[in-house]
Amino acid sequence: MNTTMNFEPGKDFALKMDRNDPLKDFRQRFYVPEPKTVYLDGNSLGRLPIESMQRIARLTEHEWGKRLIRSWNEGWYTLSEKVSEKIAAITGAEPHEIATGDSTSVNLYKVAKAALQINQGRKTIVTDALNFPTDVYVLQGIVNESAGRYRLQIIPSDDGMTISEAAMENALDDDTALVVLSHVAFKSGFMHDMERVNQLVHSKGALIIWDLSHAGGAVPLQLSRSGADMAVGCTYKYMNGGPGSPAYLFVAQQHQEKFTPAVWGWFGEADPFAFGLSFQPAKGIRKMLIGTPPVISLAAIEPGLDLLIEAGMEKIRHKSEWQSAYFIFLYELLLKDKGFSLGSPKNVRQRGSHVSLQHPAAYSICKAMINPGNANPVIIPDFRAPDNIRFGFAPLYNSFEDIFTAVECLVDVVSKKKYEKYAGGRDAVT
Ligand SMILES: *Cc1c(COP(=O)(O)O)cnc(C)c1O
Repeated sequence: MNTTMNFEPGKDFALKMDRNDPLKDFRQRFYVPEPKTVYLDGNSLGRLPIESMQRIARLTEHEWGKRLIRSWNEGWYTLSEKVSEKIAAITGAEPHEIATGDSTSVNLYKVAKAALQINQGRKTIVTDALNFPTDVYVLQGIVNESAGRYRLQIIPSDDGMTISEAAMENALDDDTALVVLSHVAFKSGFMHDMERVNQLVHSKGALIIWDLSHAGGAVPLQLSRSGADMAVGCTYKYMNGGPGSPAYLFVAQQHQEKFTPAVWGWFGEADPFAFGLSFQPAKGIRKMLIGTPPVISLAAIEPGLDLLIEAGMEKIRHKSEWQSAYFIFLYELLLKDKGFSLGSPKNVRQRGSHVSLQHPAAYSICKAMINPGNANPVIIPDFRAPDNIRFGFAPLYNSFEDIFTAVECLVDVVSKKKYEKYAGGRDAVT
């Protein structure tokens, strides 16, 4: 990245950055019915691509409504493969190394069971304290069902934000079977160096699984070239696939014939339409599929992927680095002395595409930004317990002006204590 990033405090700077932004036209490819609302939660649920609305309309009316069952042979059956090829292009994998379907949680179970079958004779599964809870739960479940065969070890974080190489080194030994990490941590945005970690894990004789949920579509990835063994990830965050859209999984070519799948279903069978009563796994990545995919949700992923491919991951990352650094510049100038602290790494190379600010009243501040109740624009970040407000920057539709406006509103909410009236209870989804 460019190490000489220079920023200026005024709004003019944001407007100048937007004018010179090579990705600025992509915002028009998204449905933005409330143009004044500043949406900084694309790391949790990406915006809706206009093409996806049209795709869903066509699919429901023509493919489902009119063509009915015939649509399976008119594109539905191969849809998962088509989507997987595009995810492979975005994540630096070979097309036959990605499968799309099920949720990230379920996919993690499938690849973790596969990895443990490949690397037998060792007892320890390792993850880190920054990982997303569902990942830890899935691993705890595997330990639980193993009746004492496996144990889970969680690498601590010294600062609650990052994982040091020393802590990682310390945790791994000749009993480590498997390491499961989020490439970009959901709270702090800390990003592991994938290639270095792959080398370290392999040097200890273990396998690595990456959760790419907060990385896919935000940072350029080289799954194959970096030597990753397996991976999983969401499509509804920076890939803009829609709420609950199916997740993907990656299994490196070299591992694909070394295990039998954890869940045997007909979509992973060698010849599903022979309807045989004895399961034979399909060759290659297809054996990781289980059952009928949610076709509407699966189809809705594709337009978002097309936008990422058209824009190019390098350009997306370049803008994202500038955006998160600009946000931190404004934080230091205007928020640092107002009770906020930075909950994300300062070094841009250790950061994904979101930044967390910590404040004792984080939840109420977040609510006050979402419900400004006056002439101020609505700002949508999100809250992560205990005291983080997360600001996600999605370079395809977020402008530098969005960032300036968000910080301006934060200053207003905090200096006038507008958050105090939201000190009550919490919503179910934060
Ligand atoms: C968002 C996210 C998930 C979500 O998993 P689902 O099964 O889709 O609910 C999993 N892991 C990480 C790291 C995430 O950020």
